[in-house]
Formats: sequence, structure tokens, C-alpha cells
Amino acid sequence: MDRQQAMSHLDEAAFERAISSCAKCNGTTFDVATYVDRHLPVMLGERNNDGRWAHDGEKLIDGVYRITCAGCGAAAYDSPDCPRCHRAGALAEALETESRLVVPKRCPTCKGTEVGVVGFAPATVRTGAGKPSPSPNALLGEVGFHVIAIACDSCDWAIVAEGCPLCGKAPPLRPRP
Ligand SMILES: [Zn+2]
Ligand SMILES: [Zn+2]
Ligand SMILES: [Zn+2]
Repeated sequence: MDRQQAMSHLDEAAFERAISSCAKCNGTTFDVATYVDRHLPVMLGERNNDGRWAHDGEKLIDGVYRITCAGCGAAAYDSPDCPRCHRAGALAEALETESRLVVPKRCPTCKGTEVGVVGFAPATVRTGAGKPSPSPNALLGEVGFHVIAIACDSCDWAIVAEGCPLCGKAPPLRPRP
């Protein structure tokens, strides 16, 4: 079993180990690829702006699927599994498909035009100096972004993705940290 597999899915301790120092070049700066929650205001099915992050540090670590050394490109962690449900080999499906849950142009209940969307955005964050801030690699409507939940701004209509929002695996889902 190689180092990546032995590390399995990341908890905080394993994450800290992975970004401590590169096994190849001893570098200490890493690019971390993760799936994290982003909130977007939507009007008539189109996003109003780029939205904002809606995750904490534990969720950021929980969504990590790849860590590479910024100096030499060596992988410090690399998992092909779905970061949300851990289904084996399902990461590619998440990254290469559009959201299964689609945002309606109008609220089906009150016909309102504005809804709030929370979705999983693939993101990259560089470790190192200062407070790291992830950059989203896809937003609502783009390949790789997956809607988790939608809620109407004007009434109490809401909908949540069935099963795993990322890869579509049937419920139950493992709990998130
Ligand atoms: Zn390196
Ligand atoms: Zn409504
Ligand atoms: Zn999944």
C-alpha cells in the first residue's frame, strides 16, 4: 500500500502531516484542491454575482481530494474517491459533470424570481503565509459545481439534493464534520 492510500481520507491530523514538508524537495508550500460550500444569490436561474464561501476549516479539510507541492509538483495526497460520500473512484464524475439539482427560473410555490443556492464548488487554496483563501474553480452553471440546496427568498419553499450532491450516490450519506 502506498503512502496516499495509507493516508486514506483526511482528518485534521493527516492534513497537517500532508502539508508539513514535501517528501521529494522538502518544500513547505502546497496547493490544496478541495470541494467546499459556496452560497450564491440567484435571479431567474442565473447567479447575481460570484457569491461567498460558506464553510469552516473542518469542512475545507474534509473536502480535500488532492494536495500537490507548489515547488516540485509532487503529490502529498491524491484521492480518486468522492470527497463527500467517499464512493470509490467517483471524484472524476463530480469534476466532469454539471449539477444534477437544477435551479428553477422561478420559485415553484410563489413564482418569486430570487432564490439562494448553496453548492459544492471545486476550489484551490495555497498554503503558507497569511490566512489562506480558496479560489473557486467553478461556479453555479459550470461543470464541476454541484447544487446542495435551494431556498426561496420570498416564501418557505426549499429543496435539498437527493443523495450525494457531488456524485449522486444514493443516501445515506456519511455525516460531515
Ligand atoms: Zn516538492
Ligand atoms: Zn417562493
Ligand atoms: Zn459522492
